Amino acid sequence: MKSAKDKIDTIIRMLKRRYRKEMKTSLDHRNRWELLVATMLSAQSQDAQVNRVTPKLFGRYPNVTDYLKLKPSELYPYVRTLGLYRNKSKNIIRAARYVHEHFHDTLPRTIGQMVQLPGVGRKTANVVLANAFGVLEGIAIDTHCITTTNRLFLLHTRDAKKIEARLMEFVPKEEWGNITHLLIALGRDVCTAKKKYCSRCVLNSLCPSSEVKR
Ligand code: SF4
Repeated sequence: MKSAKDKIDTIIRMLKRRYRKEMKTSLDHRNRWELLVATMLSAQSQDAQVNRVTPKLFGRYPNVTDYLKLKPSELYPYVRTLGLYRNKSKNIIRAARYVHEHFHDTLPRTIGQMVQLPGVGRKTANVVLANAFGVLEGIAIDTHCITTTNRLFLLHTRDAKKIEARLMEFVPKEEWGNITHLLIALGRDVCTAKKKYCSRCVLNSLCPSSEVKR
């Protein structure tokens, strides 16, 4: 019988073979600040929806200093098609002021500092640290990761912190940034929250929740 470590190594290898091109954030950005803003906007919104609004937003406000004197309502015309846009606008401006006052207009590089920014939780911090700096302090867990890990590892929790801690135990550290994107790609493709398409899934021979008879 395979150990948990062997199993995760095999899963990562198979997912990389299938989804290698998707092993980075699909949020469009040109600098680290834009990545943070796009990630904050992506909470409870699809990346594709975010990518539709950010070209105009970033065209008008590309840098952290552009946000310092804004009122949240000035961002509304750009982001109002996204859920929670009022709250997100407020938090983005507060985060810009925090970065300006505490970090000299440069994003911090540790998770402890990153989660001090208003509106930034562990998921956003992990995404930005991994994609902008290659810093791996944790594993970003989104709804796709919750769905896929529950099925793949027979977890029974939707608590992102617990899932992150569990994955950090047995996913090799060098894969902490990649595993998020691989599980998101798997979730978008065949292991969706509403329905699983196990017959098309590359993991159907080793997944305990597979509907494919072996
Ligand atoms: S085999 Fe089915 S349940 Fe398991 S990861 Fe693939 S799609 Fe999801």
